[in-house]
Amino acid sequence: MGMAQVTEELILDALKTVKDPDNGQDVVSAGMVSGLVIKDGNVAFALEVDPQRGPNLEPLRKAAEKTVHALDGVLSVSVVLTAEAQSQAQVTPHAAHEGHPGGQAVGRGNGQGMIPSLPGIKHVIAVASGKGGVGKSTVSANLALALAADGRKVGMMDADIYGPSQPRMLGVAGQPQTKDGKTLEPMENYGIKVMSMGLLIPEDTPMIWRGPMVMSAIQQLLRDVNWGELDVLVVDMPPGTGDAQLTMAQQVPLAGAVIVSTPQDIALLDARKGLNMFRKVEVPVLGIIENMSYFACPNCGHRTDVFSHGGAHKEADRLGVEFLGEIPLDIEIRETSDSGHPIVVSKPDSPHAKVFREIGARVWAKLDAEAGAKAMPKIVVQ
Ligand code: ADP
Repeated sequence: MGMAQVTEELILDALKTVKDPDNGQDVVSAGMVSGLVIKDGNVAFALEVDPQRGPNLEPLRKAAEKTVHALDGVLSVSVVLTAEAQSQAQVTPHAAHEGHPGGQAVGRGNGQGMIPSLPGIKHVIAVASGKGGVGKSTVSANLALALAADGRKVGMMDADIYGPSQPRMLGVAGQPQTKDGKTLEPMENYGIKVMSMGLLIPEDTPMIWRGPMVMSAIQQLLRDVNWGELDVLVVDMPPGTGDAQLTMAQQVPLAGAVIVSTPQDIALLDARKGLNMFRKVEVPVLGIIENMSYFACPNCGHRTDVFSHGGAHKEADRLGVEFLGEIPLDIEIRETSDSGHPIVVSKPDSPHAKVFREIGARVWAKLDAEAGAKAMPKIVVQ
């Protein structure tokens, strides 16, 4: 005990010293502060800004964070820039529910404006799933390694706050190091760079606080890690389609998303929720991967369609999304990834590794096409 209790009033008082560089007005009087949440010395809020100005306001965001962090009794601060309508820009104490201090869902402004791109990183892709346990992390790890096997420079950012498994799957451990005291060096294994929430958030962090931590942690993973030059950064998203996932999809400059699902999952609508989430924030869905698609008998090689097979492909067609491929349910896939030697690197000539390589090639082709389309001059019909 004996620690000073920080209050909303103290925070707002402090924030009155933080001035918008463009008009000199402080962020409180300008009505930019919203969704303030205080929980046991952990503070989160949003700064609502004009989407056009978003990319230039990172210093303002940092300044607000630093100012609040300096207050007695503040353990952590997450500040996020949002592009909410100015009419709603009011302090709404305790109005934001857990896991989404930003309050309302926020558009990405057509993918331009709000989210500064990452210098040196060509494409960022999210690997997501409608729910946990469908093999999202296994697929992310093997997909990242498949892209690397094709000669791409690849990073893996494990943003699964609820169950970060990339350190185990990619065989990295320990405390991230810093050379300059400012940026973290990513871990490296199998030729790819790896950083994980699991290496940054203490394991005993209560679930309830993980959501609000997303914002600052995601910024840290993206911008304070020395990723260097990458062709593609694969983001292993937290499973599900709740606020934390939505916020993350808004915070990361995503070129596209890949949805992993099992045959049942497609049938049960979970995968569609994932699709809709990305559509809502205007991130292109590159396609669906069906995992645990069929059972390949390790003894005789016989294939059994445990769940009615082909559903995902049909469903993808129906939803107008590319079907990127199907991965069998196979003990070898489980053993290799769970032991830190994913099949793409430990058995590169196996049929399963080939499946991942084909999926990797398809994903790359889609990214290339997306980038090409973006670079095309827009034709305006009046
Ligand atoms: P998620 O990230 O969706 O929660 P994981 O990738 O952690 O799921 O997978 C859950 C478990 O299922 C892990 O033990 C993993 O090794 C196993 N697994 C994933 N995909 C397959 C597969 N195609 N065949 C066999 N086991 C798999």
